Amino acid sequence: MVPGIKLVVLGKQGAGKGTQCVRLSHHYVVPHISTGDMLRGAVKTGSELGARVKKVMESGELLGDELIMEMVGERLAEPDARARGFILDGCPRTLKQAEMLAALLVPGDIDLTVDIEVPTSQVLRRLAARRVCVDCGTNYSVSAPPRVNWTCDICGGEVIQRDDDSEEAIGRRLELYERQTAPLMEFYDKRGQLAKVDGRGAPDTVLRRIIRAVEDRRSRWGAGR
Ligand code: AMP
Repeated sequence: MVPGIKLVVLGKQGAGKGTQCVRLSHHYVVPHISTGDMLRGAVKTGSELGARVKKVMESGELLGDELIMEMVGERLAEPDARARGFILDGCPRTLKQAEMLAALLVPGDIDLTVDIEVPTSQVLRRLAARRVCVDCGTNYSVSAPPRVNWTCDICGGEVIQRDDDSEEAIGRRLELYERQTAPLMEFYDKRGQLAKVDGRGAPDTVLRRIIRAVEDRRSRWGAGR
């Protein structure tokens, strides 16, 4: 039996987090919890909150820590996440969120944080080419489009370029990443919960590296936990 996991996945926008998280969630049979996807879901409802969220997302800024962690806390309390764990994608984004996440999980904790490392020049190229299904969030690119006329292979939804993948918003998001998310590496490193993984190469190769990093960590827990 594959044991579950409580895994946080970090990496710049365009580092391949979304793609790897979907695969990791199948591999470890745990839910893929993406704050970006949850927020895009809120926007689609057309509610007043959704309209406010849309504005912030389009600007490339971050939503407030309290709102995000309330949403994440509710999701982590659901039976699937409580039973086997989760792959957390897009959260924490700030030190405050990391602290709030640790507090939410008491008496447990996350097992590991994986940082998918890709050079910024490569990330910029990937983001400019990225396309996404508006319905299920599956990622494509101009060099690997869906089979039929920008219609999602998985659900038949429309495949488009995200509003926040504009050049201006990308620049803003990468800058914010450096400023707010990079300190998280230090936070998790100090707690012995950080593994850095080379994110260059084919998705299957990167997935194998991540699984190896997790299993390597598990074998050490076997001895120490
Ligand atoms: P993503 O799909 O993870 O790139 O997220 C898209 C946008 O949603 C971000 O640029 C932020 O505006 C917002 N967002 C997603 N996750 C968070 C978070 N943990 N904290 C604050 N804002 C977030």
